[in-house]
Amino acid sequence: MKIERKKIGKLQKAVLFRTIFPVLIMCVAIIATTILRTRNSLKEELNRSLYATAVAVIDSYDQMYPGDYRLVSVGNGFFSLYKGEQELTEQHAFIDHLREESGMHISLIYKDMRILTTMMNEEGIRYTGTGVHATVVSQMEKKRQPLYYEVEIGPELYYACYVPIWNTDDDLVGMVATALTSAEVKKEASSVNTPILLITILGLLVTSFISIRYTNAIVNAIGEIHLFLAEMVAGNLNNTMPETVLKRRDEIGETGKDVLRMQNAVRILVECDPLTTLYNRRYGNAKLKNMQQRSEQTGAPFALAIGDIDFFKKVNDTYGHDAGDLVLKHVANELKILMAGRGHAVRWGGEEFLLIFEDTKLVAAGAALEEFLERIRSQVVDYGSQPIHVTMTIGLVDGAIDTPLEELIKQADEKLYYGKEHGRNQLVVTMDDAQPLYRELLAMEAEGKKGDVVLTFSDEFLDSENLMQLLADSAVREAENDKNGSDQGDEGT
Ligand code: GH3
Ligand code: MG
Ligand code: MG
Repeated sequence: MKIERKKIGKLQKAVLFRTIFPVLIMCVAIIATTILRTRNSLKEELNRSLYATAVAVIDSYDQMYPGDYRLVSVGNGFFSLYKGEQELTEQHAFIDHLREESGMHISLIYKDMRILTTMMNEEGIRYTGTGVHATVVSQMEKKRQPLYYEVEIGPELYYACYVPIWNTDDDLVGMVATALTSAEVKKEASSVNTPILLITILGLLVTSFISIRYTNAIVNAIGEIHLFLAEMVAGNLNNTMPETVLKRRDEIGETGKDVLRMQNAVRILVECDPLTTLYNRRYGNAKLKNMQQRSEQTGAPFALAIGDIDFFKKVNDTYGHDAGDLVLKHVANELKILMAGRGHAVRWGGEEFLLIFEDTKLVAAGAALEEFLERIRSQVVDYGSQPIHVTMTIGLVDGAIDTPLEELIKQADEKLYYGKEHGRNQLVVTMDDAQPLYRELLAMEAEGKKGDVVLTFSDEFLDSENLMQLLADSAVREAENDKNGSDQGDEGT
């Protein structure tokens, strides 16, 4: 069963929700307060400058043309506005100049009528002679102080400031109005708000990007550890922890390493025998099965052997159980050395071991085992001051893809017991008369005397009739060689 990790898990959603959502709320709050605050301060600023310009217009007229405002009849029922001695009607130059300077529209209003104005319709005709909004006029008469209104003039919406004009007798003459179109006011506001908005949105994007990346990395690493553990639970003890987890220098990285150590500890518990630390029988069986399958696929040769310590009960009986354990550990260590690079050593039973020779032909396995037996024979295990001598008997069989493993093990077992019954302390490869000859050949192989005899022999190993013939041939050849050698020697002398 392949265990897969979810792309976006609950944790990922939860972490992202808890990081990005608050930032989003904060950004909305920042934007809202900024807009409100700038709107208020802009309005105050706008009011101030509209008012100042209106006052400047009134003061300028007072300075330029001292005297009161008055209407003078020009005949035919028409009137003209005068300031002191100066006629103002149609005198737009001054307010046009101020409009250019300030960007504001300026109107001089007598009672409720625009006498002079910079405001024009689409055809460029000034709104002179038009009436001011009735509410403005009535409010001005009532309050008699500067007023601010959003008013519609023609098709356009304006934000305007109305400042009263007084004659010397405190008579309310009219007003000076200064105004900006609402579009101009909005443009002004957005020129202040846009950079703040952009910076806030950029901040939100950067924060989101960083927190998404960071939480993704954390959640991925946790996901990998979770997957690793799930695989372990499912029985996979050979999984590797991804580098992205192991190279993290935080608690998650540490957890990854701990989990890896745990896998190793579990693997040892599950796969190994605690006394000898060799593979246990269960895992040995799995390894054997793997080897046979691989051999079937690739044609790689393999061999298997079962070895048993001779008279081991005597060790226990003579020196005690601890001495027996010590001997077991000693033999296990030697077996580890023997099998390093060759395959696996397995504790098969009490003092019985299974050896799996991977990618090894039977002759090479036999030669290595002969060497091993010789080494064991020559060593002593020191139990306190008491030297214990150890020998072993081993049955060896060639691996075969078409023979069930139980059958192969049974054959090796039979050879082992054949060896037990025929003097122990030996390697058994065949249970017939050829046994001494095999051992001779294996000894030759071990000594590196790989003559053509041994090479040929290794291919047709189990055919003992053939082997006998080969050995006979070899003996004949050797005898001939000896003879030739002595003949040449004779000739030389
Ligand atoms: P043979 O040469 O025929 O194999 O004789 P043997 O004495 O080695 O074989 P036998 O089966 O009679 O005795 C094996 C003994 O190994 C019996 C058992 O108590 C002992 N044994 C099995 N496991 C352990 C172990 O883990 N530690 C020790 N100390 N002894 C063990
Ligand atoms: Mg034994
Ligand atoms: Mg035994």
